[in-house]
Amino acid sequence: MANKKIALITGASSGIGKAIALELAKSNANVVINYNRNEKEANETVAEVKKCGVGCIAVKADISKFEECASMMEIVKEKFGALDILVNNAGALSDKTLKNMTKEQWDFVLGVNLDGTFNVTKNALPLIKDNGRIINISSIVGLSGNFGQTNYAASKAGMIGFTKSLAKELGKRRITVNAIAPGFIDTQMTKSVSFLRRSIIMAMIPLGRAGAPEDVAGLVAFLASAKASYITGEVICVDGGFSF
Ligand code: NAD
Repeated sequence: MANKKIALITGASSGIGKAIALELAKSNANVVINYNRNEKEANETVAEVKKCGVGCIAVKADISKFEECASMMEIVKEKFGALDILVNNAGALSDKTLKNMTKEQWDFVLGVNLDGTFNVTKNALPLIKDNGRIINISSIVGLSGNFGQTNYAASKAGMIGFTKSLAKELGKRRITVNAIAPGFIDTQMTKSVSFLRRSIIMAMIPLGRAGAPEDVAGLVAFLASAKASYITGEVICVDGGFSF
């Protein structure tokens, strides 16, 4: 377990987060799986990650709650001492046009996606080593907006501003901070999209298919590697050409 990098990925029991956990494990990092509700899924992910020959623990914390994030970092500190890689991946949506959106829907999405990014990063920062990596999973919706997603788009755009500001603050410690903007990726989050809407979206993607979680995880592994040490403050789309 020694001499391995330590990575914390939020919302890593499923979807893109799980693929990131496995990819970082394959690049020889010990992994902390943050999850909110599904302990069974988190434990299954831990077992899969451990098969790569790295250390792995699951830590429960609702990232929208500052104190739970502080407690999570205490556990990380106790178990691994420090962090090399933080991936703010956990996210949620609650779609409605602004006309029909409730204050609760607004607060919920901003609370998980944007406050969550602050809560996790603020508490993780004392543990992050020089030359470390912070990678924030935003969305192309944060760049272009989307019908019915004012809350989600605002939260994901906020993550981009957060990324660029923090990159400026942490450059002197050679910690890079970047954002990834996925397009349409096949996960639980996109399962409820109707067949018709999905067909329309597919027709708009030059590469002609939905993305897989592994398409995003590959870029995370690159940004976390030494090869990406001169890249910071960037937003990189992984969307099959959907947004250009
Ligand atoms: P997903 O629903 O499988 O994963 C989201 C994860 O976040 C889940 O494990 C969930 O339990 C966790 N989570 C939600 N609220 C949480 C909280 N309060 N505390 C801790 N964990 C919490 O969906 P996904 O597609 O894998 O999403 C991963 C990230 O990618 C999200 O930030 C999402 O916004 C972003 N994204 C996804 C797509 C897509 O098309 N799937 C596109 C762009 C961006």
